[in-house]
Amino acid sequence: MAPLARNVLVTGSNRGIGLELVRQLVEGPDPPEHIFATYRDLDGARGKALQELAAKYPPVRLIQLDAVSLASVRAAVKEVDSQLNGKGLNLLINNAAVNSYATLQSVQPEEMISVFTTNVVGPIQVAKEFLPLLKRAAEEAGKEGLSCSKAAIINMSTKVGSIELCFQVLEIPMYPYRASKAALNMVTRCLAAELKDAGILCTAIHPGWVKTDMGTEKAPLTVECSVQGILSVLAGLSQATTGVFLDWEGKSLPW
Ligand code: NDP
Repeated sequence: MAPLARNVLVTGSNRGIGLELVRQLVEGPDPPEHIFATYRDLDGARGKALQELAAKYPPVRLIQLDAVSLASVRAAVKEVDSQLNGKGLNLLINNAAVNSYATLQSVQPEEMISVFTTNVVGPIQVAKEFLPLLKRAAEEAGKEGLSCSKAAIINMSTKVGSIELCFQVLEIPMYPYRASKAALNMVTRCLAAELKDAGILCTAIHPGWVKTDMGTEKAPLTVECSVQGILSVLAGLSQATTGVFLDWEGKSLPW
């Protein structure tokens, strides 16, 4: 079995879905050559599991990256570039995000801006700065078509960001979070349209409602199950599924 992708980067890898993506990628039957697992801060309990994974598996490379800081993203690109030693980055997973439950009554402008900064400005900035490494991977592959093994950007979205579904707004208003993920969906469509000819796929994935710090214990899905689904969906992506919105089981969601 070929690896999903030779060189992968996952943002927000110290906990939750990001950590499990790194774990399943490295413990899978054919692990990538490099898995750049990015974190903001490894101190304390939040960094322990990722540090243990990196100590056990040489392909896991720890890279500091705060998606909202351009200086931090650029330093991460430099470090990844040097570790790739002339090779390209095949798969970029924009997983890092923050949540906000603010209602119409409680929402503050500062919170709207702060969530937007992390969930929209962050991923677009990460995609923009890593683009030369993704283009290098696409050129190296030289084959027709689009896939995660060639070059791809995956944006972690959510069903509650779907404008068409407008899912459970009265029960879970989440104005800042929903608006930010709807904007991220538009970014995904734009990137897919713009980068297709460069050989780079771009798709939005909803991981399900998952038991993590963000999803809480009430969530029905375990992180293991969600990530198993996500990885199998990623393996099947192609030219036909660039610029689409899929859930962790591969079902299509409306924008
Ligand atoms: P968690 O809250 O468990 O983890 C979020 C991760 O993002 C942490 O590693 C956090 O790092 C990181 N992060 C936050 N801000 C930044 C930043 N500025 N720069 C870099 N890293 C940052 O979330 P989940 O694992 O549950 O969610 C992962 C993705 O899946 C998100 O995009 C989320 O929106 C999406 N999603 C999750 C659902 C769920 O039910 N869990 C449902 C639908 C979508 P740190 O530890 O430093 O804070």
